[in-house]
Amino acid sequence: QIVTRIAPSPTGIMHIGTARTALFNWLFARGRGGKFLLRIEDTDRARSTPEATEAILDGMRWLGLDWDGEAVSQFERAPRHAEVAREMLARGHAYKCFATQDEIEAYREAARTANRSTLYLSPWRDADPATHPDAPYVIRLRAPRDGATVIQDAVQGSVTFRNDQLDDMVMLRSDGTPTYMLAVVVDDHDMGVTHAIRGDDHLNNAARQAQIYRAMDWLEPVWAHIPLIHGEDGKKLSKRNGATGVMDYARMGIPAAAMRNYLARLGWSHGDDELFIDEQAIAWFDLSGIGRAPARLDMKKLESVSGWHIARMEDAELMAEIERYLAFTGQAPLSRAQHDLMVAAMYCLKDRAKSLPDLLEKGQFALACRPLQPDEKARAALDPVSRGILHELTAQLQNVSWSKDTLEATLTLAAEAHGLKFGKLAGPLRAALAGRSVTPSVFDMMLVIGREETLARLAEAAS
Ligand code: GLU
Repeated sequence: QIVTRIAPSPTGIMHIGTARTALFNWLFARGRGGKFLLRIEDTDRARSTPEATEAILDGMRWLGLDWDGEAVSQFERAPRHAEVAREMLARGHAYKCFATQDEIEAYREAARTANRSTLYLSPWRDADPATHPDAPYVIRLRAPRDGATVIQDAVQGSVTFRNDQLDDMVMLRSDGTPTYMLAVVVDDHDMGVTHAIRGDDHLNNAARQAQIYRAMDWLEPVWAHIPLIHGEDGKKLSKRNGATGVMDYARMGIPAAAMRNYLARLGWSHGDDELFIDEQAIAWFDLSGIGRAPARLDMKKLESVSGWHIARMEDAELMAEIERYLAFTGQAPLSRAQHDLMVAAMYCLKDRAKSLPDLLEKGQFALACRPLQPDEKARAALDPVSRGILHELTAQLQNVSWSKDTLEATLTLAAEAHGLKFGKLAGPLRAALAGRSVTPSVFDMMLVIGREETLARLAEAAS
């Protein structure tokens, strides 16, 4: 069975790169009847606050990436990591190193002066255990000295690391805590991870981790190191050239389904397909579709992906996204009446909206309560002549049947009676019905809010 995982270090936000890596692992597992696991790499006790961990879980939940089983805490597994280090010691694949920090520094300094490699070679590697002092020690891997460690990577191909450039890494510190390198390998092995899909900033780590797998005679996962995400300017992504946190996108009002689509295309492709739903992505996703060049953020593209999803999503799904968006941005939830009107209006809103706030803005007429607060442009449209016509309309619309055809005929007649084209009346009507100058069609708005509310708004604007 395929087992993938996302192993974020809690830093306070869920980085968009982590979100994309999580998505790739999720797609890969879900398309193969596999498992997708979550491990929180919370060994850095200063940074790993409950809030920082919660930020990761929030990001995962928002993006809709459900993981199998309980989230695993790496920190809690420290005793198991130590156990493996001791097992490697017993098997001769590791050794105790008693060198002090000062000694190691002195070694490096001497190497620098002599222009030799500063890679530390511990004299304890070959020391007779009988000569071991009763002093603190670290456990180091007895790494191969000759030849090379070769990684077969599903994205990067075969990658060779010369062993004389890899030192005997520390696996267990003198206080008995594991190093990151050991913890990752032991956890991935124990969790049965078959595919390690992660950012290519971990490619060098893979060589070191492979050495531990090989020393333990454990089966290595399939490695897949994916290129990082760059900002719109092609430079490494930072707060300056793009939104780095996945929740920034939630607060921008991108629906999660659209974000999944967009993130999937950041570094992975399937022919010319740009717009797709989860079922398709799950069926299509494969490691061979991952490119080797860094992906670039593109907000214009994100907007168009978002618009496509909004147009095709079910109303109920969209309403749920709207409620989540309002909550994330600290806005009041919709009232029952607003909710129902928004649902009724959805058919004339969702084809052109690029984001959830855009949808809410276009749906302003459905959300507004009297007295309306027209914006500046809308106020300008309500000149005296227009107000006069709106006033007449309140009488003319009393008894006509409430259908698009009759409304259109009535409004056109009213405009003509004043020597105007209907278009001239549209501005004041939008202002009266929505308090805005950009809205769905006047007829759609009237049909959605109904006769009574239409007449009340026209009267209010006319007065
Ligand atoms: N904790 C690492 C990170 O957040 C990921 C380690 C891994 O995927 O092996 O970058």
